[in-house]
Amino acid sequence: MTGHVLKYLGETKLELGPVGDADGNWRTGRDDADVLWLVLDKQNTNMNTISKDVIRELDQHIIAAEKNLPTAIVIRSAKKAGFAAGADISDFEAMTEDGAADLLQQAHDVLDRIEALNCPTICIVHGAALGAGFEIALACDYRIAIPGASFGFPEVQLGLHPGLGGTFRLPALIGPTDAMTMMLTGKTAHTKRAKSQGIVDAVVEERHIAAAVTAAVEGKIDKHEPGVTSRAFGFDQARSLAARKMRSETEKKAPKQHYPAPHALIDLWVEHGDNRDAMQKAEIQSFARLLRSDTSKNLRRVFFLRQNLKDEGRGDDGVSHVHVIGAGAMGTEIAAIAAIKGKIVTLGDIETEALGRAIGTAAKICEDKHLSDIEMRDALDRLMPDPRGYGLAQADLVIEAATEREDLKEKIFKGLKGKLKKSAILVSNTSSLSVDDLATSAPSKTRFAGLHFFNPVSRIDLVEVVKGDATSAETAASLAAFCGAIGKLPVTVADYPGFVVNRALVPYMLEAMVLMDEGVSKEVIDTAALRFGMPMGPVTLADQVGLDVGLHVAQSLSENLKTSMPPISDDLRERVDAGDLGKKSGKGFYDWSDGTPHPDADLDEAPDDLTDRLILPMLNACAEVLREGVAQSPDQIDAAMIFATGWAPFRGGPMHYAKQRGVDDVIARLRELQEAHGPRFTADDGWSGLA
Ligand code: NAD
Repeated sequence: MTGHVLKYLGETKLELGPVGDADGNWRTGRDDADVLWLVLDKQNTNMNTISKDVIRELDQHIIAAEKNLPTAIVIRSAKKAGFAAGADISDFEAMTEDGAADLLQQAHDVLDRIEALNCPTICIVHGAALGAGFEIALACDYRIAIPGASFGFPEVQLGLHPGLGGTFRLPALIGPTDAMTMMLTGKTAHTKRAKSQGIVDAVVEERHIAAAVTAAVEGKIDKHEPGVTSRAFGFDQARSLAARKMRSETEKKAPKQHYPAPHALIDLWVEHGDNRDAMQKAEIQSFARLLRSDTSKNLRRVFFLRQNLKDEGRGDDGVSHVHVIGAGAMGTEIAAIAAIKGKIVTLGDIETEALGRAIGTAAKICEDKHLSDIEMRDALDRLMPDPRGYGLAQADLVIEAATEREDLKEKIFKGLKGKLKKSAILVSNTSSLSVDDLATSAPSKTRFAGLHFFNPVSRIDLVEVVKGDATSAETAASLAAFCGAIGKLPVTVADYPGFVVNRALVPYMLEAMVLMDEGVSKEVIDTAALRFGMPMGPVTLADQVGLDVGLHVAQSLSENLKTSMPPISDDLRERVDAGDLGKKSGKGFYDWSDGTPHPDADLDEAPDDLTDRLILPMLNACAEVLREGVAQSPDQIDAAMIFATGWAPFRGGPMHYAKQRGVDDVIARLRELQEAHGPRFTADDGWSGLA
């Protein structure tokens, strides 16, 4: 087949080169210059993943190419969404260690053969090339990126490390220091960084791809050469020395006991970093072993939990214009994220200075999200300060994020009567007020709900869609879709004090304060929580949230829940009265003037039941919200806790942890704690349905 074929993907015209008829997951064809184009277009999905089938078919295409060698081979993606999101991890779920090792060996053979081909191989990447997608790109002679492309090995987030040769190909390409950092952290290199590191050989616009391919075929694109330091790591001693630092840095962020994969990767490099063949064999064995570890199983569970929430967020939200009331900490970030994701946003506040600050914050968020100059300009154009509230009449969705006071919110809602479009949905971002109570002041009860974002909105993916008694199913569905449209993960929950996430978190923070009153140091308490796997100890968390906000939510929960809560400590009230509010005021329980605290205390003297006193009340609250029908399933609760709070992901979520530990054991331990410390540890009735 000859001649170029242009393909329109969405609105983007992609030059795919000549493509043949759909043939499995790859579309192929040779052009006038006898260049073979292998275009990955995985069936029945918008995003390529590298599955067994994709590798098997690639193998067949490479065998055919070996027999009838083309001038060059170009590998690229037909999907608008990008190159490839990584391996299809569902392939691994039912596999034994040996089965996984066999599969990996077959895939290694294919990539080795691509590398050994007697013609130039060129990988063209638009969007993300992650995991196994990046591995395929690395096996090629050239990588050409289209602006916006990104590269990374996120395997550590699944309790794994690269498994198709990345452990030796990436260090060989960009040097072990940068390569190990990328693989150990799972961080993505965006186009500019990928070019400066030498991951990509050229960055060209889509319209220049054909010319870039020709230049690569003619050897006119310079290939990156790793520096001299790379050669130094050929010596065992140099690697051992460098590994010592890597191990201690990694231990701080991902303790070996909880996250074995990055440590296994360092071991691989130290032992085999100078011997590719040995490294290849060891990489396969190590990957297959890690795959069966509890950590990896639980982290893969977390991956699927995320997919489930993404699915809940699909569909048409019917929202093109959002009006946000209140340009404080929350309203500003909500407005910025919505504008970045393409919504027209008007933002109102009674303080005009707040609106000025909001635009500055929005620009900073655009930078943090790596938006190009044009994308940033467009996002900021869509975000309009609106002190007079002109946007209210056009908005499809109005998000109230004003100060947390019931009378104030009610006044705002009453003032909206007659001002909104008939079809408009109104939501409140309240953390502690009852959605049903607020609904009584809203212009329409059926089109009113809670939409509870977490702080900071730009970094926390979860949003609780709080369905009040009168909220219609359509309203809840639109709100879930709105969350999906702005890149968030929705969980739909019922109105309840603290909803799901704060209901579970507040006892964690309050119990820490009771422990401090008993004389246990804040560092010991936080260290115990960190060792369990929480991303932040409860005392640091309270400071981070803001002691005033925490106190307010704790009071509201204590007043409104039927179940017993830890008492609110005098110390907390006194600190709030003194204006020591935590991170935002520079001082709370910790002094934040020198940056974030990193408690790391000796636990030898800690009370034996310390960790359970912090963790089990969270689990107990989760059983309660399930029993009360606030959340629909244990999985939904696990997802909410992990994506809102970073709850020990390697344990798979609080409900999963309870199941793995044994529900009977959880109940028995709660009974012991109840006897020792009082009724706040009474095991919830909901456990009986879970045992
Ligand atoms: P904030 O104090 O930072 O901002 C509130 C803003 O609302 C201020 O800029 C204020 O000027 C403005 N405002 C007050 N009255 C107004 C009115 N009548 N019309 C328009 N604007 C008005 O507060 P925040 O932390 O952004 O919280 C806002 C809401 O989000 C609250 O309901 C809070 O419970 C909720 N929330 C906060 C957090 C958090 O961690 N901060 C987390 C989740 C939800």
